[in-house]
Amino acid sequence: MKKQEQPSLIWFNGNVEPWENATVHVWSELATRGANIFEGIRCYQQKDGSHALISLEQHLNRLFSALKILRIASPFTKEELKAGIIDLINALKLEGHIYVRPTVYVEKGRYGEGYGEVKNGAYIVAFPVERSPSIQEGIKCCVSSWRRMNDLSMSPLLKAGAAYQSFKLPMIDALNGGYDEAILLNDKGLVAETTGATIFMVRNGQVITPPISAGILESITRSNCINLLRSHFKIQVVERDIPRTELYWADEIFLTGTLAELTPVLSIDKIDIGNGAVGPITQKLQTTYLGICEGRKEDTFNWLTLL
Ligand code: PMP
Repeated sequence: MKKQEQPSLIWFNGNVEPWENATVHVWSELATRGANIFEGIRCYQQKDGSHALISLEQHLNRLFSALKILRIASPFTKEELKAGIIDLINALKLEGHIYVRPTVYVEKGRYGEGYGEVKNGAYIVAFPVERSPSIQEGIKCCVSSWRRMNDLSMSPLLKAGAAYQSFKLPMIDALNGGYDEAILLNDKGLVAETTGATIFMVRNGQVITPPISAGILESITRSNCINLLRSHFKIQVVERDIPRTELYWADEIFLTGTLAELTPVLSIDKIDIGNGAVGPITQKLQTTYLGICEGRKEDTFNWLTLL
């Protein structure tokens, strides 16, 4: 399959099927209220051409934890979804790095009332994903006037399709302002995260990142990078609140996420971070992180599921 083409196959409710077969009615909960929980997982091509999924178990655990919050019963077990992911990737025979998106959705039953009337389903999509040049070049961010949703309205812990509408206005503003990405503050005015990645700041040799209680997604790349910094590089990582203005004092800033991988931030609100170039800690963390993902460095943390 060529890059950016529609995949020929999809895993839909238990089987690998032709793409066109995966249909749900417009009058479903999925379509009308965006009732779904999804995961985004990277499957890295290894140096020998084979593929490996990163942090598969953690991604599926997060999917089921989110389903628990919204009281959505998955019609498939973790093991069945895992098998579905592997079956689909094998059937598609894709080249290069791959992005995989398992999704559990609600077809019928608004509040899960009358158990007989509830109907849920699941699908998995996989397609090739190119590495963004931002990984090398770095990006320009702004701090948005829009806020990250808080736990009392829509939990930031939920990777729910509907929740991602809240990132549309911050992204439109950021792009209109000539920036690449928006940093969102939480309801207390403290730094939360971007529209698809968590944020790390390096100051005086220490790495600082907002805690989960700042109202962020419990990011898997964030946790992998914290482990790498602490155990591999012996660098101190502190999880604490960050006020907006402290960002301007940082020596280095980088973002982490499944798609963002490890993206350097060169400026915020048009203020250079450090000397406005990719910093040394960002650089070495990125090299080691991608090295493990692509099988060029030893997988000491057991991140990879080899296919
Ligand atoms: N925050 C948000 C809002 C995201 O959508 C993502 C992407 N899943 C992340 C952070 C990064 O999370 P992860 O490292 O688990 O991909």
